[in-house]
Amino acid sequence: MENLSETGSRKSLHGRDVEQTETNPYLQMLKVAQRQHLNSGISTTTTETLDDYDLGGVDCEICGNKGYVLNTGSNGELLTRECECMAKRRSLRRIRKSGISDMLERYTFKNYADEDDTRKNVKQTAIRFANADSGWFYIAGQPGSGKTHICTAICARLIDRGKDVYYMRWRDESRLLKSQINSQELEEPLEKLKRIAVLYIDDFFKGGSNEADVRLAFEIINARYNDSKLRTIISTEMMLEEILSVDEALGSRIYERSKGYVLEAPKENYRLR
Ligand SMILES: [Zn+2]
Repeated sequence: MENLSETGSRKSLHGRDVEQTETNPYLQMLKVAQRQHLNSGISTTTTETLDDYDLGGVDCEICGNKGYVLNTGSNGELLTRECECMAKRRSLRRIRKSGISDMLERYTFKNYADEDDTRKNVKQTAIRFANADSGWFYIAGQPGSGKTHICTAICARLIDRGKDVYYMRWRDESRLLKSQINSQELEEPLEKLKRIAVLYIDDFFKGGSNEADVRLAFEIINARYNDSKLRTIISTEMMLEEILSVDEALGSRIYERSKGYVLEAPKENYRLR
C-alpha cells in the first residue's frame, strides 16, 4: 500500500485520491480507475486504457482539445465526462500504431478511380455504407483489385463521423490470437475485436481457413452479429459463397448483416487515379 502523503496525492473534487501533478481531471479519473482496477463509472466504449488517451491530431471546438467536458451534477458537484472527440482520437491513434496512416491519406474516395461501371458501383455502394448507421460491408477480389483502398476510404469517413474504428490485418492478428486461444492473455484483445464500434478485417482468411481459423472467426463474427449497432467491414479473396461452404453458420451471419453491401472487386488490375 503506497503512502499517499509521500506520493503527493490529495483528495480531488470527486473524492478520489489523485496525483497532484495531473491537471486533467478526466485523465486523473482514468489513472485512479486503472490503479484501483475498478470501474469508476466513466463511460468508455471499449477496453480503454491510458495508452489510448492521446490528444493529438484532432481539433475539437467542444472541449478545446482537452478531451473532456465539465458538467455540474444534481447536487452541485463537478462532473467530468469524456468528450465525443475522443473516439476519433482513439481511432487515429490506433491507425497510427498499426502503421497505416499513409494508407488513410492515399486511399480516399476521391482517389478511387471509378472509370467503369463496376468501379462506379463499388464506390457508390461504399459511400452509401459509410454514410449509413447500420450494416456490414463485404468485398471480395484478387490482390491489387483496390478492395483495401475502398475499405480504407470507408474507415476514414467513419472516423470522421466520430466512430471508434479498429483495423485488423487478419493474417498477422489471427496468428497471434490462435496461439493464445486457451490463455487469459487472449481475453482483452479478443474483447476489443468483439465490441469495437467498427472493425475492419483486411484480407479475411488470408493464409487459410482451417478449424482454428473458423473457430476464431466465428467467435468474433458471432459476437458482432449479436449486437446490431456494431459494424464490420471485410475485404477478402474469398467469395461469400466460399465462406458459406467452409462454414455455414459463419457465412450466413456475414451474409445476413451485409445485405445490400456485398461486392465483387473488378477483375482487371487496379491503379490509383
Ligand atoms: Zn472534444
